[in-house]
Amino acid sequence: MDRKWVYLFTELEAVESTVADWEGVRTLLGGKGANLAEMSRIGVPVPPGFTVTTEACIAYLAEEGRFPSDIWAQELDALKRIEALTGKEFGNPKKPLLVSCRSGAKFSMPGMMDTILNLGLNDEVAEGMVTLIGDARFVYDSYRRLIQMFGTVVREIDDEVFDEVIEQRRLEAGVATDPELAAEDWMAVTQRFKELVKIHSHAPFPQDPIEQLKAATEAVFDSWNTRRAVDYRNASGIPHDLGTGVNIVTMVFGNMGETSGTGVVMSRNPSTGEPGLHGDFLVNAQGEDVVAGTRQTFEISAMAERFPQAYQQLCDIADLLERHYRNMQDIEFTIEGGKLWLLQTRNGKRTAQAEVRIAVDMVDEGLLKREEAVLRVSPEQVDFYLHPQFDETARRNAQLIATGLNVSPGAAVGLVAFDADTAERWAKDEGKPVIMVRPETKPDDVHGMLAAEGIVTSRGGRTSHAALVARQFGKPAVVGVEALEIDLDDREARVGDLTFREGTEISIDGARGEVYLGALPKVIPDIQDAWLSRLMEWADDFRTLEVWANADYPEDAERARSLGAQGIGLCRTEHMFFEEDRLPIMREMIMARAHHERESALDRLLPLQRGDFEGLFRAMDGLPVVVRLLDPPLHEFLPDHKELMRELAELKLRLQHLDTLREIDNTLEEIRAKQDFLERTEELLETNPMLGTRGVRLAMLLPELTRMQARALFQAAAECVRDGVDVKVEVMIPLVSHVNELRTQRRIVEAEARQVMDEEEREIPYKLGTMIEIPRAALVADVIAGDAEFFSFGTNDLTQTVFGMSRDDAEQGFLIKYLEDGVLADNPFATLDQEGVGRIMRQAVELGRKTRPDLEIGICGEHGGDPRSVEFCHEIGLNYVSCSPFRVPVARFAAAQAAVREAGWKPMPAAPRDMKRPSGKAKAGKASKKEAAVTT
Ligand code: PEP
Ligand code: MG
Repeated sequence: MDRKWVYLFTELEAVESTVADWEGVRTLLGGKGANLAEMSRIGVPVPPGFTVTTEACIAYLAEEGRFPSDIWAQELDALKRIEALTGKEFGNPKKPLLVSCRSGAKFSMPGMMDTILNLGLNDEVAEGMVTLIGDARFVYDSYRRLIQMFGTVVREIDDEVFDEVIEQRRLEAGVATDPELAAEDWMAVTQRFKELVKIHSHAPFPQDPIEQLKAATEAVFDSWNTRRAVDYRNASGIPHDLGTGVNIVTMVFGNMGETSGTGVVMSRNPSTGEPGLHGDFLVNAQGEDVVAGTRQTFEISAMAERFPQAYQQLCDIADLLERHYRNMQDIEFTIEGGKLWLLQTRNGKRTAQAEVRIAVDMVDEGLLKREEAVLRVSPEQVDFYLHPQFDETARRNAQLIATGLNVSPGAAVGLVAFDADTAERWAKDEGKPVIMVRPETKPDDVHGMLAAEGIVTSRGGRTSHAALVARQFGKPAVVGVEALEIDLDDREARVGDLTFREGTEISIDGARGEVYLGALPKVIPDIQDAWLSRLMEWADDFRTLEVWANADYPEDAERARSLGAQGIGLCRTEHMFFEEDRLPIMREMIMARAHHERESALDRLLPLQRGDFEGLFRAMDGLPVVVRLLDPPLHEFLPDHKELMRELAELKLRLQHLDTLREIDNTLEEIRAKQDFLERTEELLETNPMLGTRGVRLAMLLPELTRMQARALFQAAAECVRDGVDVKVEVMIPLVSHVNELRTQRRIVEAEARQVMDEEEREIPYKLGTMIEIPRAALVADVIAGDAEFFSFGTNDLTQTVFGMSRDDAEQGFLIKYLEDGVLADNPFATLDQEGVGRIMRQAVELGRKTRPDLEIGICGEHGGDPRSVEFCHEIGLNYVSCSPFRVPVARFAAAQAAVREAGWKPMPAAPRDMKRPSGKAKAGKASKKEAAVTT
């Protein structure tokens, strides 16, 4: 044997001897195989079986669909050992062994790959089983399922081909549901299915069980590379080279009459996180009946009455598995003749709210440490709380079309699209928001679901495909809207008297399970959720990095503060002049040729600026406010050159049609003024405005501008201090590349500040610092720090200048291709390029602090709200990140994760053996003290 490709569930020790840890076990066996083996080990009832490894899958795919080496021989050998364990034989009609063949990759890809049940049945075995157990109905129901699955999975025949036969049979028998069909019906269906397989695949259904097993194994391996699986991996960031394991499991039957059943449960509510089993259950059915949503399922609580003992055992096992894995579990089970069997456990998919609640509850239950809870929840899940929900009044007044199951919360508005391709086309190509509405969804629909704003289905339960996928990708979804009749041929849907066509605008509330006609306005959810608040409290205890906000207006500052901002890291003063009544004055100031004209404009701007600053200081009472002096890229403030040319041409044309001398004189005057304006604009226009007269460069040309801003700032501060406000002013000079720029501006600010303070008879302590957003400034940070009390990395410009790519154009041009082709892994304007931009930042921090050890350093580019970039900022020792107000909670959380990770904590010890925890001494500073408190 050159290598071991197949492991029985009872051979976990052998697996562990070849890999480093539990992660390695999952990599080799896939998640499902690893967990089946783990369950066997801890005494949970699991049917005997074995796993063909992911390595075997990779080898098989590399050989383009042939079993290399002795994989197949090992599989047959494992089958023999299962026969010995169960006392049954594969293909023997007297003591038949039936098995299922299930995929199972390292990372769960629900429904993306294939499963075949009841392998080992053929005509002879079916007859033998009828003799053995005397239940022909059960046997032929099982047999037809095998042929159906074999036909669709191995021979790639359409589902509908088989579904139609069953539907027809129900009609003929005059019954509404499958369980009402009799043995003869299933025998006839079985016969017809065999014919259909032959007709559609030009080969008969194989009667040789060994041939069935081999074809099924190959089909599962092949399903790794189906379009839906590849799409799913792309969307979930799962690598394509992992391969899937194949699990061969002894069949246990939930469809063996009224003492049998099957179900899927989550150990807690996957929408809300509430404790207690949550899921669906069916009597006399096989697993896929529950997931497919083809039969009306019962709430799991109904099982307590029907199978009290098995229900209690299930509750106990769910509890055991949760404690074992320290995570909410998604469990598949079957009851065969009253005996409970577990077929699968995995960490359950859940909504953001459920993730937060479960993490917090598990700390209270002693299952997790606070640090682990903080690592369990992703910054994106915190972000969820900042997303819109429907306005409550509008919702109450809206036309409710129908209700269904509230499986994935959030509010979504879009046009109804009845299939995945239409949904994708409308959303991606035409930029329209879409709600995908389907009878049910299948893995082939995933691309449409990803493109849609939300999902509605008329069938299916809480664990249906639609619900799972929607939750995973945070798409609002309502499923099982029974009142909804979808007519795919006529492209319309009906609910009672109401008919609506494809393209109709609807709104869905995934938290309430409601569908409304028309577009409802949305509001931001309440971030004060009790569980989130506790989690955020812990996060704030752990983090060492402060989180400030970029805010230009008092109301932004108030919002930022309410979301936990500890300061304003960037007030872009030029944004204060974008408003309609201010822009003309600002433009006048920029365009002025004569000193007195500029002074007049500045005089009018001064009180406006003062008012804005006052508002900011009051909103941030007690917290620092970094006011950046004007940094207007000139092209944003200059008049439109083309428009000026057109206006001038019009005036000249008008001149030719005028009669009176007075009119001509007036128009000539207008032409002269326009001409002058145009010339001035042309003087100021630059070929490369982003590398032009911006930031400090404009201030060097117009020192009166700095004077006006400094005056407004210190007057506002004095006024606020007079009213008892605790003002912490920081004046920031933008776009500095040479220390002399900073020195010049510092002198102007200091002089003006002194003058205002004398006039106001009040001392206003303040800091003066600079942005680091030009590579030269970063390279000479030690020199610059001599004149700066703080640095703030302007990583928007720093990225632009380090890469030498325009922040205005790159994302519409070559950068898209770079990202598509993988030349760059991430958009450097969204996620800090640690290798390049990051290196220069790290160096600037070291140089700056060499000159001034207490140098305060932050970041105020867009990266300040990006979790990965926040982690990097923590790593290089910044004091704070500053981001837009709505990102503040996300950044707080990301900062906490960075600190906890640095101390050696991991989010997911998947099994207790791996639960080695850091001692709590790994970190210095504030967090380590807290850590000591919570880890004891
Ligand atoms: C930056 O360049 O990162 C920055 C914050 O300044 P602005 O975006 O205003 O140029
Ligand atoms: Mg900048």
